[in-house]
Amino acid sequence: MTGRLGAVDARITAAARVHGRDPAEITRIVVTKFHPASLVRELYAAGVRDVGENRQQELSAKAGDLADLTDLRWHFVGQAQTNKARAIRSAAAAVHSVDRPRIADALNAAAEKPEEDVLDVFLQINLTDDPGRGGVHPDGLLALAEHVVGLGALRLRGVMAVAPLDEEPARAFARLARMSESVRGVAPSASAISAGMTGDFEEAIAAGATHLRIGSAITGPRPLRG
Ligand SMILES: *Cc1c(COP(=O)(O)O)cnc(C)c1O
Repeated sequence: MTGRLGAVDARITAAARVHGRDPAEITRIVVTKFHPASLVRELYAAGVRDVGENRQQELSAKAGDLADLTDLRWHFVGQAQTNKARAIRSAAAAVHSVDRPRIADALNAAAEKPEEDVLDVFLQINLTDDPGRGGVHPDGLLALAEHVVGLGALRLRGVMAVAPLDEEPARAFARLARMSESVRGVAPSASAISAGMTGDFEEAIAAGATHLRIGSAITGPRPLRG
């Protein structure tokens, strides 16, 4: 696994250089869903400090098991439910999947001490034509950004998306980059772009991604769910 990690990091560095970007401004998050906490511990030993999960129960369990790794940052990248906001907030340093005012409100209200304890959030945008997929419709993006900016216990970091299966990732990420610019009109410091997975992280780097969410290229294939 450390071989795969090194190979992916070399590809990230190479892609950043090709596109005139500083590799140090890119955060590589290893998505560890379905893998045991022991694998996260191995990643930590190899220098990984940012890991991602897409289910609250799995996030809470692994974060609990690995509570001794105090500088490990957990990123929640899955569909968030309002009744799980407190559990997500207590385990995660960042939530990449805020796609409606209600989940933003729930995460905001779950703060232990507003002001002191600020949660980083990304607005997930649905780049597909299927309203059933996660993410806010692009037409609702700016209203959601304005809403989140008004919540004191959340810090709006930027936007997040998954490239549609039926579209060239480069094209989808170019649209995402334009949407990121429009969000910066509302929240100038919200410049982060969370995009790029195993199959398309180089295209995401080309389009300005600052946070890559990479799973199987580093962890190997995911174990089957029981
Ligand atoms: C699983 C997952 C990833 C990582 O996927 P890979 O293709 O294994 O790199 C990234 N983002 C989200 C939201 C995920 O659920």
